[in-house]
Amino acid sequence: MLLVVVRSIAHSSPPSGSNRIEWFGLFSLYMFWVVFFSFFFDPERMGRYPPMAKLKLEFHEMSTPSWFTKDPAFAWGFWSHRLGLYHSKSVPHRGYTIMKTLAATKADHFSFTSNVDTHWIRSGFAENKVMECHGSTGWMQCTQPKCTNPKAASAESGGPALWSAADVIKSLPVVDESTFRVNDPATLPKCVRCGSLARPNVMMFSDHGFVETRTDTQQLAFDNFIRDVMKNNWKLAIIEIGAGEAIPTVRETSEVSARISGSTLIRINPRDPSIPRRLSHSAVSIP
Ligand SMILES: [Zn+2]
Repeated sequence: MLLVVVRSIAHSSPPSGSNRIEWFGLFSLYMFWVVFFSFFFDPERMGRYPPMAKLKLEFHEMSTPSWFTKDPAFAWGFWSHRLGLYHSKSVPHRGYTIMKTLAATKADHFSFTSNVDTHWIRSGFAENKVMECHGSTGWMQCTQPKCTNPKAASAESGGPALWSAADVIKSLPVVDESTFRVNDPATLPKCVRCGSLARPNVMMFSDHGFVETRTDTQQLAFDNFIRDVMKNNWKLAIIEIGAGEAIPTVRETSEVSARISGSTLIRINPRDPSIPRRLSHSAVSIP
């Protein structure tokens, strides 16, 4: 679910992964840290969203942009339900506060997450210190390729390609939980540029229309962070929490970051705790 990076400038080599107590004792010396964070993607559990189970639809079949074309009221039934869960019905848990407190004691930090619930930023982490690799439900975009194309006439006529989802979240379309459809199609969110149907700026399955400008900016900030770590030989600790193998984006990123920067990876994972052999001397697993 998350990762931390911090290695003390006072330590020229990573501590042994064979002694966890010694490892954590060194945390206070680390100057830089990175957190990789992801909830387990569990297709079976997600498939049991009550309305989806009733309709015999798996999560990956529901979370695709094609529904916005085929059946907008049904597509927004799913997304209104999700936005309600992530925003109206939940707040960031205490773990975020703990990480924010830890970050404040370090020279620098970065958080990399595949979660789309905006909880890192809602917890007070700066936009330029968070990478949301699968997008964010905190932002909206148009469903029409002609509009999201930077050269489109609607783009030239003004209005952003991405805009805050705050107004949509404040007044989510009402969903019939038995059919998973929005009751009143007139309440479906509209593009601020062209008036077509809007959608969350989340990278879905088989998604060729995702507007990448915001995640590209975040990716650049993350790349620059790792580049600075390597260039200055900073000591970095990486903490990865709950990154599963079903969609391994976060897991692979933390492994590559550890390898190219010579940092130590701390993998906290009760389901998939294994560590690649090439990182066996610079990683510790906490099942
Ligand atoms: Zn549009």
